[in-house]
Amino acid sequence: MRQARMSGLSEPGGEGEECLVMKFGGTSVQDAAAIGRLCQLVRRALPQRPVLVVSALAKVTDQLMNAGWAAGEGHLEAARESLQHLRQRHEAVADGLVGGDKHDRLHNEFAREFDALAAVLSRIAWEKAFTPHVQDQLLGVGESLSSKLVHAALRSEGVEAVLVDPRECIITDAAHTRATPLWDETNERLQSLLIPLLKSGQIPVMGGFVGATRDGIPTTLGRGGSDFSASIVGAGLHARRIEIWTDVDGVMTTDPALCSDARRVARMTFDEAAELAYFGAKVLHPATLAPAMRGNVPVWVLNSRNPDCPGTEIVAHCETDGRVKAITSKQGVAIVDIEPVRWFAPELLREVFDVFERHEHSLDLLSASRGSLALLVSSVTALPAIAEELKGLAHVRWENHKALVCLVGEQIRRRPEIASQAFRAVAGIDVRMICQGASERNISFLVDESRVVEAVRRLHHSFFSVPGLSAPVPEPAVEASSSHAMCQAEGAWQ
Ligand code: ADP
Ligand code: ASP
Ligand code: MG
Repeated sequence: MRQARMSGLSEPGGEGEECLVMKFGGTSVQDAAAIGRLCQLVRRALPQRPVLVVSALAKVTDQLMNAGWAAGEGHLEAARESLQHLRQRHEAVADGLVGGDKHDRLHNEFAREFDALAAVLSRIAWEKAFTPHVQDQLLGVGESLSSKLVHAALRSEGVEAVLVDPRECIITDAAHTRATPLWDETNERLQSLLIPLLKSGQIPVMGGFVGATRDGIPTTLGRGGSDFSASIVGAGLHARRIEIWTDVDGVMTTDPALCSDARRVARMTFDEAAELAYFGAKVLHPATLAPAMRGNVPVWVLNSRNPDCPGTEIVAHCETDGRVKAITSKQGVAIVDIEPVRWFAPELLREVFDVFERHEHSLDLLSASRGSLALLVSSVTALPAIAEELKGLAHVRWENHKALVCLVGEQIRRRPEIASQAFRAVAGIDVRMICQGASERNISFLVDESRVVEAVRRLHHSFFSVPGLSAPVPEPAVEASSSHAMCQAEGAWQ
């Protein structure tokens, strides 16, 4: 029997309950053909007892969001119209997958779901407000619809699929639109609800992204959060592995949408993958790796359109030769400069953190010097209020339309030649806030959003396309220098 590997977990029921979590993203369920491929993959995995976590059909969450905003701004008719398109799309997918009674049942289910959605839109229009609480109620329906489609498709192929409501097993706090699981309760629910299903040979199918508070109020885990759901389920059930099925061959050396010659990374560590996700690689939701890491459950990223490709294996440790594994970028970043009115006292740092926390504003990166503090943030909405609160203590200025570029690889910080190769590659592009050192595995810097694609392409070419330059760099003779973080805010307003 495996050991319980997360605090608050009870022992799993025994070897017999070991399972595999398979998460299918939006493009992997986007139409009847994609759901057909999913069914084949699930059939192949049946001996490993799969638990399925599915996203909404591609683009549905965005469309629900737009409908919500439209209703809130008084365009109820437009919102209803887009709901009608969504309904037609789901019905068309159902028509391509199931027939007979199952088909009629699915259409009736959809009728109920869309009536409820229409009522939510009317309420938004009436209240002229699309609050986070209502947003969660609206957006979660995308996953409810897709899980019903997948469930019906599997059953019509004779697979003993059973629908599981994620609101029954992912129990979260009430931080709407970015909820965090209450781990002990979630793990208990996952085990008590899913293990009996697995024991009786059934295949649980649940929507990702969605949870609920203890009182049953629907919440969501943040955009792209179905990956996180899969990891929560995988860790909670002590799964043998978690598979993230998507539309690319695995974690790639950079976003293949930016560089067509991006290559698959065969193996990487949890830490490397977490760093990539945190710094903008959309292939994984940033929170995905933490539960898997704590439970030591390997994560695989696989291509549902190319299932024979071995994908990327993400594990606790893997051999490292100090190379750059991947390059990522995060757009829509703002740099905030905080300059003390008098001098830079430790109390100011505390006050700055407190103010950002009060405004629920997260920080991506921080760099301090004797005279000022530079912060990177992903949203500027709360900055005017934050500046107002810090008035008298510090001057706060910010510049947006920046992008963070990040090179990731275990121990790359121990290789000074990697930083010099990177900066040679981006010569001529204005680089700011170079940060090398908060972690061993990351070198990041800021560029103007308008130059970010060029910067990533040049770096990718330098590290992955030119023979010789991407060869392993020798071990450094002295490792002591790696214990110091080097962080530098450059030329911002000087
Ligand atoms: P899903 O709908 O399956 O969750 P996403 O669109 O959320 O898929 O994530 C997959 C996308 O992530 C890919 O199509 C790719 O453009 C993007 N991506 C960004 N960075 C990377 C990377 N380093 N490796 C692979 N894909 C990446
Ligand atoms: N459907 C949700 C979104 O688009 C969650 C996900 O796909 O992971 O954000
Ligand atoms: Mg995704």
